[in-house]
Amino acid sequence: MPPLEDSLETCAICMLDHNAKLSVVLLPCGHDFHNSCAREWMETRATRDDQSCPLCRTVTKEIVDESGNSDSPGYPFGEIGEPTRSALIYEEQPRMLQQLLRETETRLSRCEELEEDEAKGEEYRQDMQSEKRKMESRREQLHRMLREFAEGEWTQELQAQLEEHEMILMVQERFDAMLREHEERMRRHHELMQRICDQEEQMREMQRRWESFWMEDRQEHEDQGEVGREEREQQPQQF
Ligand SMILES: [Zn+2]
Ligand SMILES: [Zn+2]
Repeated sequence: MPPLEDSLETCAICMLDHNAKLSVVLLPCGHDFHNSCAREWMETRATRDDQSCPLCRTVTKEIVDESGNSDSPGYPFGEIGEPTRSALIYEEQPRMLQQLLRETETRLSRCEELEEDEAKGEEYRQDMQSEKRKMESRREQLHRMLREFAEGEWTQELQAQLEEHEMILMVQERFDAMLREHEERMRRHHELMQRICDQEEQMREMQRRWESFWMEDRQEHEDQGEVGREEREQQPQQF
């Protein structure tokens, strides 16, 4: 183990002088490293709880730079290109992605500020430039992840609307079928009613004919009856 004064002068990760690059202090343990070295170390960890100090393994809660700016150790995230496995955990969480994006924007503007600092050495400025490129790539990745999430949401919503629409169509088809069935029943009903009316009319006609026949027949009988009675009534008188 090196004496304490040595670890204060150089970054324990790259062993270069602290002044060469932007240096940060990890909290709560208070060990200091170059910002890029510490971030790179943190980003190789699988989870937030694994983000511990490379020297003493205390879980890092906060990173403070030499100007007193403080932020979280950052989420595990691939340097360039595809996000790491751990970053994918946040892919379905827009709130987390938004937070990552805010952190990224803050660090990016900080890098741009420090990059312009004429008092710093060439290595320092190069370190800031590479950090800036990393943040720009991350910002792009985050925008893409947020966009994909929004598209996924939109697709789901569209799917739900489509299903609802299909259900409405199905109900409507059933209603149409019921209506057609009802119309057919009504048509048959009217047909039957018409037939009953026709039969009633026929029956009335038959009744009229029968009545007139009966009337004629009765008249005939009555006429004959009158004659017979007269004959019968007259006959005894003849004896
Ligand atoms: Zn270093
Ligand atoms: Zn430590």
